[in-house]
Amino acid sequence: MDWTLGRLLQWTTQFLAERGSETPRLDAEVLLAHAQGCRRIDLYTHFQEPASETVRQRFRELVRQRAEGCPVAYLVGRKEFFSLEFEVSPAVLIPRPSTETLVAECLNRLRHHSAPQILDLGTGSGNIAVTLAKYLANARVVALDISADALEVARRNAERHHVADRVTLLQGDLFAPLPTGSLFDAIVSNPPYIADEELSRLPVGVRQYEPELALRGGPGGLTVVERIIRQASEFLQVGGYLLLEIGAAQEQPVRQLLGTLTTLQLEPTIYDTDRHPRVLAARKTVA
Ligand code: GLN
Repeated sequence: MDWTLGRLLQWTTQFLAERGSETPRLDAEVLLAHAQGCRRIDLYTHFQEPASETVRQRFRELVRQRAEGCPVAYLVGRKEFFSLEFEVSPAVLIPRPSTETLVAECLNRLRHHSAPQILDLGTGSGNIAVTLAKYLANARVVALDISADALEVARRNAERHHVADRVTLLQGDLFAPLPTGSLFDAIVSNPPYIADEELSRLPVGVRQYEPELALRGGPGGLTVVERIIRQASEFLQVGGYLLLEIGAAQEQPVRQLLGTLTTLQLEPTIYDTDRHPRVLAARKTVA
């Protein structure tokens, strides 16, 4: 019997479903397209064609790793975010659809700004920084990360999307690398906010493959968030925004903390497309 692309997909979909994938057909298609070196949609017109031995071997290896729990994005080295394609590696968190909410909120607030200065803390793959630079033609973005390996990925993503001239990448711990007196129109961050006690309950694909540094938020998931909030005001222009991604468990504690700051005016919680509380926004009101 011939292993046509169609049969390979059928068999693999079933196999990955049994191994616990929630999107077995999509996974199979993305991996087969990768093994074949074509686009996913190109598979649809070639279902009847036999797969070559080389393609089958490559595909088998990818499927084996997927079945063990490795996220598809790491296997193919890329992930779509806000309709842009980003390179990813195990040095960075895989961009999530929920983070698109943060980006959209920032775009809305800065749309009429002639040349906004933006700070992205913990840029990872650079998905937030690059997307903002791409959709705000005159924006300048400073993107920080503590991980040199992550910054390498972010640099390639900035180049890939032709915004490297407006995205400055700096290595260091949160605000530390910034020259004193730096002021921004928006500070955005998707910080590590998973509570230590929740880490072991994450799905295997996240827990075993994504960088812990990008996830671990300390007790209650609040350590990094609190550090950002305590310093943010110092680096914001009057009228500037702090936009933070959070998990549902952080909403109330972080709202309370933001509420205690006299320089920041807290806005209503923003929900993502799954209707989870996802972004907290505050605006600097006084110098
Ligand atoms: N900024 C990246 C993202 O939103 C990385 C965030 C992180 O590593 N916590 O996906």
